[in-house]
Amino acid sequence: MKAFDCKMCGECCYGVGGIFMEEDEQKRIAKYLKLKFKDFLAGYTEVRNGRIYANVGRDNFCIFFKDKKGCTIHPVKPARCELWPFFPANVADPETWDAAKLACRGINRDCSFEDFVKESPNGGTPKK
Ligand code: SF4
Ligand code: SF4
Repeated sequence: MKAFDCKMCGECCYGVGGIFMEEDEQKRIAKYLKLKFKDFLAGYTEVRNGRIYANVGRDNFCIFFKDKKGCTIHPVKPARCELWPFFPANVADPETWDAAKLACRGINRDCSFEDFVKESPNGGTPKK
């Protein structure tokens, strides 16, 4: 039984969130979309608190999310999206993990917190 199995519902791609992109990620995504870097920045991102974030579209979903297609930059999506729902806070604290279940239906309610931690990319071992 998997502790996480993505249902492709797109709920984690909804709303003005915290999808910031490091410069190497921005360049990778711009290249993937075959856009000039400045056009990518102007059309797909916004600056908040000095960081570059993925913008949202008129439907309030992440600008890279398309109905029936899901994430259109899946092979090069930002590290934060790659990691979700195994964010450090979710693998460190059962209460935070519990709250994350409300945001992500892919987190298996029949599995324990320990199962979830074991399934995380680093098995719950903090990065050095
Ligand atoms: S909210 Fe969870 S189940 Fe839904 S798309 Fe995001 S990761 Fe997958
Ligand atoms: S980059 Fe992709 S996975 Fe990340 S929020 Fe946007 S659509 Fe979702």
